[in-house]
Amino acid sequence: MRYLILSDIHANWEALESVLKAAEGRYDRIVCCGDIVGYGPDPARVTERMNTLHVQIVRGNHDKAVLGQTDLSFFNPLARQAVYWTREVLAPVHWEFLREIPPGPATLLDFILVHGSLMDEDEYLFNGKEAASSLQMAWAPLVFMGHTHIQGGFALNADKTVTDFRPVFLEGKLESELKLEPGMKYLINSGSVGQPRDRDSRAAYAILDGEEKIIRFCRAEYPIELTQAKMQAVQLPEYLIQRLSLGK
Ligand code: ZN
Repeated sequence: MRYLILSDIHANWEALESVLKAAEGRYDRIVCCGDIVGYGPDPARVTERMNTLHVQIVRGNHDKAVLGQTDLSFFNPLARQAVYWTREVLAPVHWEFLREIPPGPATLLDFILVHGSLMDEDEYLFNGKEAASSLQMAWAPLVFMGHTHIQGGFALNADKTVTDFRPVFLEGKLESELKLEPGMKYLINSGSVGQPRDRDSRAAYAILDGEEKIIRFCRAEYPIELTQAKMQAVQLPEYLIQRLSLGK
């Protein structure tokens, strides 16, 4: 089975469409590590699109925040402003879809899905030290996560040490391969579709080939200025608009 791995779409229609187009014909199923909405200008449209794609999703902290299931005092003021705006533009059908997204972890045939970590759906795993407990307790050799918006991940080696890695894209390439080795455990972040924060503004995603045991980290160009213009039109915070072109 080949999977398209998405995460942190954040209501960015142009980014999502570019990823789906770039990945067309290369996967059998889509999974998503959460944060369908929040930050971006198209929460209704993106929610509807995800619904028609029959994606297996675990919820993200922004999905919860929009639903009112999170204490918003933990959100920075700009993210909070985007949450309030998102609430205003969603219709009952979107609320219903978001409400039905289960919390992680979700155990699938070939891997586990989480938003933050295996212990806590809201935990950020930025380095190997933070990732170690999740790797040790993982009940499958492969876990996909989101939340940090940083493409890459962590591997638990046979000697119990943890290696962190980021994909390297050769000049002009939109793809970087990782071969999964037997006896290792992996926590993989496919990167953020709609708001990358790894200093690469291109939409991020990954494709898993379950038979070949290869993960392909991918990037897709998308018309960022179009998304930014939409954000401007509905007066979403300037910083959220600018960070899309900076990829951070
Ligand atoms: Zn996110």
